[in-house]
Amino acid sequence: MRPEILFPLFAPVGTLKGVGPRVAPLLEKLAGPIVRDVAFLRPHSLVRRTPADLSAALDGQVMTFEVTVDEYQRPRSQAQPWRVRVSDPTGFMTLVFFGRYADQLEKRHPPGAKRIISGKVEDDRFGRQMVHPDYMVAPDKREEIPQLEAIYPATEGLPARRVRTFALEALERAPELPEWQDPAWLARERFQPWREALERLHNPQGEADMSPTAPHLRRLAYDELLAQQLAMAQRKAARRREPAARIAASEIAARIQADLPFAFTGAQTRALGEIRADLSAGERMSRLIQGDVGSGKTVVAMCAMADVAAAGGQSALMAPTEILARQHYETISGPLTDHGTGVILLTGRDKGAARAEKLRALASGAAKVAVGTHALFQDDVVFDRLELAVIDEQHRFGVSERQRLQTKGQAVHLLAMSATPIPRTLELTMYGDLDVSRIDEKPPGRTPVATRAAPMTRIAEVEARLQEAVKAGAQAFWICPLVSESELIDLKAAETRAAELRETLGPSVGLIHGKMPPAAKDAVMAEFADGKLSVLVATTVVEVGVNVPNATIMVIEQAERFGLAQLHQLRGRVGRGVRESSCVLLYDPPLSETAQKRLDILRRTDDGFLIAETDLELRGGGDALGLKQSGFPDYVFADVLGPHRDLIAAAGDDARLIVTRDPELKSERGKALQVLQELFDWKAGLGLRDAG
Ligand code: ADP
Ligand code: MG
Repeated sequence: MRPEILFPLFAPVGTLKGVGPRVAPLLEKLAGPIVRDVAFLRPHSLVRRTPADLSAALDGQVMTFEVTVDEYQRPRSQAQPWRVRVSDPTGFMTLVFFGRYADQLEKRHPPGAKRIISGKVEDDRFGRQMVHPDYMVAPDKREEIPQLEAIYPATEGLPARRVRTFALEALERAPELPEWQDPAWLARERFQPWREALERLHNPQGEADMSPTAPHLRRLAYDELLAQQLAMAQRKAARRREPAARIAASEIAARIQADLPFAFTGAQTRALGEIRADLSAGERMSRLIQGDVGSGKTVVAMCAMADVAAAGGQSALMAPTEILARQHYETISGPLTDHGTGVILLTGRDKGAARAEKLRALASGAAKVAVGTHALFQDDVVFDRLELAVIDEQHRFGVSERQRLQTKGQAVHLLAMSATPIPRTLELTMYGDLDVSRIDEKPPGRTPVATRAAPMTRIAEVEARLQEAVKAGAQAFWICPLVSESELIDLKAAETRAAELRETLGPSVGLIHGKMPPAAKDAVMAEFADGKLSVLVATTVVEVGVNVPNATIMVIEQAERFGLAQLHQLRGRVGRGVRESSCVLLYDPPLSETAQKRLDILRRTDDGFLIAETDLELRGGGDALGLKQSGFPDYVFADVLGPHRDLIAAAGDDARLIVTRDPELKSERGKALQVLQELFDWKAGLGLRDAG
């Protein structure tokens, strides 16, 4: 239940003064549906309204002048504005007013009157002007003009100054809240109380207050991170408290592993050891295996599934697409069935009698492992004893989807797999509710992908080489990035490229893009995987994890636009067979120094973790890693990719300590923390609990 103290902040924006039915939707779009969202709006800049001489006016600047009103120039038609000439001893300018009320101006500001005006100076063909000054007051009312004013984001129909009025009003509604931070930490960081920090956000005292490293902004960021980390730590603790099947390392798994044509890497052995420690502890496991595509995550999961099967339980391995599900099935069904463990593949394609047969095998327990897509958690899919859910690329599934699979058993152990490398510093923000195993070592014998960068001007050369390679039987991916605002334009670019390549290479050039229905995508992917297409032109939808061993060439257009992690993943599509592979990063010259360095990392290393870490350092902010698409949390205040990165670990430690000492949040600080979680909508309950 929401604490009463927060009611004013959770009222709809329509309750703010001046927010009527016309403004409310605009404000909602800009901020969000409730007063809290408006109070959390961040000004993006600051203007000083100290009067200057007109001779110092600068185009494009927000400036303030003390002027005399000289004369009015009436509009000749309704559509034209009123123009008012004003001057000071150093110069003159024109004020411009549109709209019906403009004719009252002359009464309010008669010629000869002294006024202080403030607003944006614009030089255009009519000379120097100011359109609708932000302020125009008599000198005795000068205190109506704030000396320093925070500038807010605006939207069509809702100018920044009105947004500011609403933000200040929302701030008024914000009550003093009980302190949720540890006093020692507050003192160490010199954080002021929450209400004061919020006040400072809206009333910055100088440029320094606009920096994300200003104490009040760090406090707000830390509050937000603590709220999130606490929810995650609670979730993890709650899973742990649930007794779950104890599963021991099995003889069968040992034999399966021994029969594989390769030995596990050290990292695989470590990951399997960590999983087994969890599975044998009698508590619910929630673990993530992170590792590049091809690092051997699936075979590790397979051994865990064999352990579960040996103990009489069932496992489900869920993949986001049919083609990935099929590939997983191909990887694990041989070794498992060879040792007497029944495996079925269940996708949307299974219909009628064949599907019924598979469902029976799951319900009876005859099949111990199910591999599949969303089809796995349909209502009529019943397991005899589901004990382990393995979820590949978990961010591709919604919370409720993951939950539905896990509710098909009791206290189902959770093993997630991800091929998106996350720098250590950011691990907690995405996976604070999971234990993480890293597979940071590649199986031996892979030849690194020869990677080079080339300007777009050399595209003809690249095409010529591609033509030769295709003639010799090679297959290639050609990636066209999503660059414009409109997907349609991007699609056109990809279509044009495909058509052009067909001219040189013949008809075996396929196209796959994000607008295609999933079945059509799968079909094109399958044609490529089967070798029926030699080149696959794609927008960035090439499925992570899809294995086409014969594909040895990867061309990426406008590579400088991608996050490095994305480039790394795309490159990971090739180099999966024994043949030498290559990757060409085409860029639009000139490259900035940073862009150059970024592309260089790719040439130098193949280690996804190192690449992610370096990219984060190089760009030091922004969504360099393309994480937003990987389920990265959307923070209001915290910039964890940039200046607030150092706060993550502290918030994580803090959260874990709280959960250990006061799991129910019953202490005085605990109660305040409940308010904090409500305030930021990071609650442990509310369906997140089993989110895994
Ligand atoms: P991931 O799930 O991380 O993409 P997989 O487990 O599917 O990786 O493994 C990719 C391929 O590499 C599979 O064909 C698998 O049999 C093989 N493989 C896995 N581990 C090793 C290893 N230690 N040595 C050699 N090959 C391996
Ligand atoms: Mg995989």
